[in-house]
Amino acid sequence: AKAGGGQRSEFFDPALAEAAEQRRHMENDLRQALREQQFELFFQPIVDIAAGRVAGAEALIRWRHPERGLVPPDRFIPLIEQSGLIDGLGLWVLDDACRQLAEWQRAGRPHYLSINVSGRQIPHGLPPAAVAEALARHGIPASRLALEITEGILLANIGEAQAWLQAVQALGVRVYLDDFGTGYSSLSYLNRFPLDTLKIDRSFVQDMATGNNAHSLVIAIVAMARSVGLQVVAEGVETAGQLEILSAIGCQYAQGYYLSRPVTAADFPEVASEIDRR
Ligand code: C2E
Ligand code: CA
Ligand code: CA
Ligand code: CA
Repeated sequence: AKAGGGQRSEFFDPALAEAAEQRRHMENDLRQALREQQFELFFQPIVDIAAGRVAGAEALIRWRHPERGLVPPDRFIPLIEQSGLIDGLGLWVLDDACRQLAEWQRAGRPHYLSINVSGRQIPHGLPPAAVAEALARHGIPASRLALEITEGILLANIGEAQAWLQAVQALGVRVYLDDFGTGYSSLSYLNRFPLDTLKIDRSFVQDMATGNNAHSLVIAIVAMARSVGLQVVAEGVETAGQLEILSAIGCQYAQGYYLSRPVTAADFPEVASEIDRR
């Protein structure tokens, strides 16, 4: 039986329909963006604190939208993940990062570069063989590339994640654990995965000077990481005071607005040289 028009409208939520419509529109935009290469990697220096020099960079994606300008990743990555476009985008990021590494190599810059990998890409969206191919295509030593993953990836499917991690590490590619401290990982748990580096989430770094226990937590994380042979990058360093504390604690690497914002590939060499000279 056909429902009456009035009855049907009971189930019609204009706000929901509009949201769905916007989403479809945005998805189409994103497909077009992929085809037309509207994405661009920015680079934020990662600084060796003791040496006072740039050791490498993290690649952070931006969308140069023809009308809306530069769109930050938080505004499109979730939809990219939901719509299944993340695998294609992830392979583009990998290739472009390797291309950039090749350019730095030719210019005599021994920087390493890390890229962000979404949980959705593991294990099938970013096969270790594709990583090996990208490195070979651009003539890059594997040790120059790092993949940043979050602990959610490890928790979601321990067996598959572990096999994937072992395969990329066997290539010589580094693996960083991003946003460390925001999840549930314990040290004993982390020990089960082949990781190279912990990135301490910026919430800890930014609370360090405010007198709560973030300071002791950062000390504990650095000591703990060191005891199991992991390097540590402190994220979100915004002040000289934070950098001083991190230096005193013996944290090896720092990244944040105080050192530099993420910058374009064209600006990166100048920014890196400036930090090295400082
Ligand atoms: P993330 O991996 O934790 O990256 C760090 C974010 O913190 C970046 O935001 C960076 O610009 C910002 N940041 C750096 N220093 C500071 C600071 O001192 N203070 C503050 N308040 N923020 C700082 P961004 O570039 O907007 O990226 C946001 C997130 O988007 C990233 O978080 C990452 O999860 C994701 N993302 C970025 N690029 C990619 C990509 O190529 N692929 C995937 N799957 N995700 C990406
Ligand atoms: Ca990251
Ligand atoms: Ca992070
Ligand atoms: Ca320096």
